[in-house]
Amino acid sequence: MNLSFNLYRLQVLDSKASQVKTRLAEIQAILASDSEIAAAQEAVDAARSALTAEQKKLRDLAQQHAAKKMKFDLNQSQLFGGKVRNPKELQDLQNEAEFLKNDMANLDEAQLTVMETQDLCQADLDAAETSLSETLKRKAGENSKLLGEKGKLEEELANLQAQRPSISSQLPAEAVEAYDALLTLKGGRAVAEVEDDSCTICGMRMTPAEAQAARSPKTLVRCRSCGRILYRT
Ligand SMILES: [Zn+2]
Repeated sequence: MNLSFNLYRLQVLDSKASQVKTRLAEIQAILASDSEIAAAQEAVDAARSALTAEQKKLRDLAQQHAAKKMKFDLNQSQLFGGKVRNPKELQDLQNEAEFLKNDMANLDEAQLTVMETQDLCQADLDAAETSLSETLKRKAGENSKLLGEKGKLEEELANLQAQRPSISSQLPAEAVEAYDALLTLKGGRAVAEVEDDSCTICGMRMTPAEAQAARSPKTLVRCRSCGRILYRT
């Protein structure tokens, strides 16, 4: 039984499991956040309320125009009805008719301007709605891809976890305990590979005695600097 080799296998397994867990957490976060959809929905709401405001302006202008038209029709029937004969009154009616025509022309122009703005608002709304539906479609596609990946990762994680006992059962319990404690203490890396007689994680060089000891399958050598279990490949 090679102690450091089996601990190294455990480390490889745990590192893979840790990567899988990290990716699973990322996927979970992506699935939970729908900020893009919310932004697209906000754009639709804003475009719709802008359009509604223009539609209201247009209705108000049309009402004002109708009121002026009513006054104008009344004015015309008085002016040409034959009942008013007084020149001063006729002149007043004539003046009023000019004012009303002028007002109606201004209102017509204002309505045209609002109609143009309304068209622009409608185009904005159409674009925002298209963007929202595309976002929803794309998100559904992405989410289904992510869900597929999530399923595979969960399977992989279960596999990795199932392999752990077959390795740890080949190790003395105290070695596994020491490894587990180091794993927590050292950010998920309890075993460090050795290259050129040095720890590949912190770079500390082994003494000749340590290098010698590390060759024995039954001895565990810890890095003098970072404390990790050293494994000579
Ligand atoms: Zn080290």
